[in-house]
Amino acid sequence: MSQPPDEIRCQGLGVSEGIVIGQVLRMHPGTEQVYHWKIKPAEVETELERFRTAVAQAASQVRSLRQQAEERFGKDHAYIFDAHQLLLEDEKLIGDIESYITAERVNAEWAIKVIGDRILYLYSQIKDDYLRERRSDVEDVMQRILDALSGVSRKNHQLSEDAIIVAQDLLPSAVADLDLEHARALATDSGGWTSHTAILARGIGMPAVIGLRDFYRRAKTGDTIIVDSKRNQVILHPSAATLKAYEAETAAQAKVRLRSDRKHRGPVCTADGVAVTLRANVEVPFEFDWVEFYGASGVGLYRSEFLLAPRGGFVSEDEQCRAYEAIARVAGKDGAVIRLFDLGGDNLREQFQEPEKNPALGLRAIRFVLAHEEIMRAQVRAIMRAAASGVLKIVLPMVADSSDVQRAKSIIEEEAGKLRAAGEKFAEVSIGAMIEVPSAVLMADSIARLVDFFELGTNDLVQYTLAVDRGNDAVADWFHTLHPAVLRSIDQSLRAAERAGIPAIVCGEMASTPAYVVLLVGLGATDLSMTPAAIPRVRRAIAGINASEAKAIVDECLRCDTAEAVESLVRERFIERWPQLFDASSLPKPKPPE
Ligand code: PEP
Ligand code: MG
Repeated sequence: MSQPPDEIRCQGLGVSEGIVIGQVLRMHPGTEQVYHWKIKPAEVETELERFRTAVAQAASQVRSLRQQAEERFGKDHAYIFDAHQLLLEDEKLIGDIESYITAERVNAEWAIKVIGDRILYLYSQIKDDYLRERRSDVEDVMQRILDALSGVSRKNHQLSEDAIIVAQDLLPSAVADLDLEHARALATDSGGWTSHTAILARGIGMPAVIGLRDFYRRAKTGDTIIVDSKRNQVILHPSAATLKAYEAETAAQAKVRLRSDRKHRGPVCTADGVAVTLRANVEVPFEFDWVEFYGASGVGLYRSEFLLAPRGGFVSEDEQCRAYEAIARVAGKDGAVIRLFDLGGDNLREQFQEPEKNPALGLRAIRFVLAHEEIMRAQVRAIMRAAASGVLKIVLPMVADSSDVQRAKSIIEEEAGKLRAAGEKFAEVSIGAMIEVPSAVLMADSIARLVDFFELGTNDLVQYTLAVDRGNDAVADWFHTLHPAVLRSIDQSLRAAERAGIPAIVCGEMASTPAYVVLLVGLGATDLSMTPAAIPRVRRAIAGINASEAKAIVDECLRCDTAEAVESLVRERFIERWPQLFDASSLPKPKPPE
């Protein structure tokens, strides 16, 4: 009898709370995430039919591309599509994929992936340069069939059983696309606390451990796995004793969750009477109910680019308008701040633009929408039309200075003018600027003169101020939210807003973490937007402190030279002053000795 495999424990970073026991579902890396799932014998025929339909659709696309190429560039340039056509008609290739589906009883996508990889490997061994270069034709054709499969019946991507998604890296769009009824947790080799994948996992309450480095390679679909974000670990093939202990813990966890805090709503006051507004950050409709559930004062940040994730392309103005109306309804009288598409960086990059060498510094956010004006114009029209029936505001992501703001504002004003001239129902909206790059901090006074409010994006502010990639676990030790340079930047931005007499919402992940929130309050922040599930704990922390004491501590922090000095000061002062609110586990950890 074969021995059960040994238990394997891997340490990573727990970025979204919870413990889940389940089965691994590996997601293949690549631009297109490919699921691997088993099908029942009775489903084989349908799966083959699905595959054949996709091949026929791909072949018809190639025929029309060939025709277009011939018309535009002449016969000589259309020949490349002949190679694609031949591949799609290749009986051996198509037959191999069909046999794999039948013999292994797997979904068509997976069969394409396996057979495609085999062919690509053979091509890579060929000495002849020309033939070796034909790899790209094979890749292109495989991708085309995969696209046709996803377009023909996206529903087939739905998981039929609960699964823990294991991947090397997971794009935020892939998380947004998951079947949330059955995807129970995430475990990835890479990622950082403020990567959009982590933010989204927290937003939808899906436990996640990331930065596992070398885990993906060891896990197989169907293996038993425990994701334990509390202890920053995943356990593969848990022993019977481990499983028993975790089953007891997850049962207790379920009871705690049912006792969610529903009594408190609206703003919260510090013990010395400073009122702080608590808003919700929202990405996907799954989170809508939680805005009300956790008593948020509306939506402080709607990351609108997630509207595009499930469709894999742009969404029409009318459809956007309906989506923004829905968010306005969720937000109620306190309203919702809609951020213009923040595409690029780690956000939905692959779907919308060519790969860039340095995406975080590339055509991201406001730069992307200014470079694709039509996209921006449609979005602002949709927001202003939706604002006729609810309270909505626009925020401009990642502005570098007032010229970005000027350009964006004039486009918004032009579109308002057009809507007015056309007699459309719409409302003009307040316009804010995200302050999240160092130049915007330094130029905050001039930006403040042009906008109605600021939003401080602390995730990017840390990333860009310290030059530390927020999604790269290799530099996670340098990602210091409490670096004095970051605290000073927040301080400068809040002071600039104050001088201009405009409000400032702090909406990065810092605002979801009680210890950091105390410092934000000490810096004078009175408007915070966070992942909805964080609202009760942030509320408790604020209600339990004096703003004046937080200010005294923060003044000391601002004079520190290093992040380590701030962190140790915070540990010392918080435990001394508020032992009922903070213990070692809720404060920044000391650096382990070298
Ligand atoms: C931020 O940068 O802090 C922010 C709120 O925006 P995002 O995390 O979407 O970049
Ligand atoms: Mg940002």
